[in-house]
Amino acid sequence: MKIKLRGHHLLCLLGFQGYGYSEDFVLNMTRINELRKSEDCIVSLTNEPDDICSSCPNLNDNVCENKKQNEIIVEMDDEVLSQFNLEKEYNSLELFNEVSLKFNTMKKVENVCKNCKWENECLFYKKLE
Ligand code: SF4
Repeated sequence: MKIKLRGHHLLCLLGFQGYGYSEDFVLNMTRINELRKSEDCIVSLTNEPDDICSSCPNLNDNVCENKKQNEIIVEMDDEVLSQFNLEKEYNSLELFNEVSLKFNTMKKVENVCKNCKWENECLFYKKLE
């Protein structure tokens, strides 16, 4: 199967432990988090609304919350995407392995994770502390 993920969600998925913006959001993110662990899962990358945003109550007219917040989110995506190829489709296991290797210190994630409201619930971030 194929999933579409925005850049910063690659880090969010590594830290996900069941928290989110609504019940539907959590159910969907749990499903995506399971899919991305399958050997035959293919991932395409984007800095636009993805298969996680599609169940998010914050998504309005394809924008995350509002114009200003959306710009911040896209910057976070682009920071992660700068390490990858948007034209490519990735094997999910290989992609997440690469993500773990490339974003393995607080310094390397600071432009993505600073000011994140999920900081205290994110296993990925906690492991870097
Ligand atoms: S719409 Fe915004 S808050 Fe919701 S999942 Fe997408 S990026 Fe996150």
